[in-house]
Amino acid sequence: MNENFFNDQFKITASCINCDLCQIICPESAILEDKNGLFIDDYRCTSCDLCYLICPYDSISREGKTSTKSSKK
Ligand code: SF4
Ligand code: SF4
Repeated sequence: MNENFFNDQFKITASCINCDLCQIICPESAILEDKNGLFIDDYRCTSCDLCYLICPYDSISREGKTSTKSSKK
């Protein structure tokens, strides 16, 4: 059995402009970068929501939906 927690909820979308805020804030260092840009390491991510809430461009989706600044509390 795999002991790692696998979380497939969060995705970085094409509107990302690589401002790096999400990478800086992620407490699990789960936002990584390769030649195609940023991506979320599903084994490290604990669904804390910080990246989803902080992204100024609504470029992180959670369960297929992006946050919009107008609907944030
Ligand atoms: S905070 Fe948003 S725009 Fe900035 S790097 Fe992360 S996903 Fe991209
Ligand atoms: S939800 Fe939290 S742990 Fe997961 S990638 Fe975003 S900031 Fe990191």
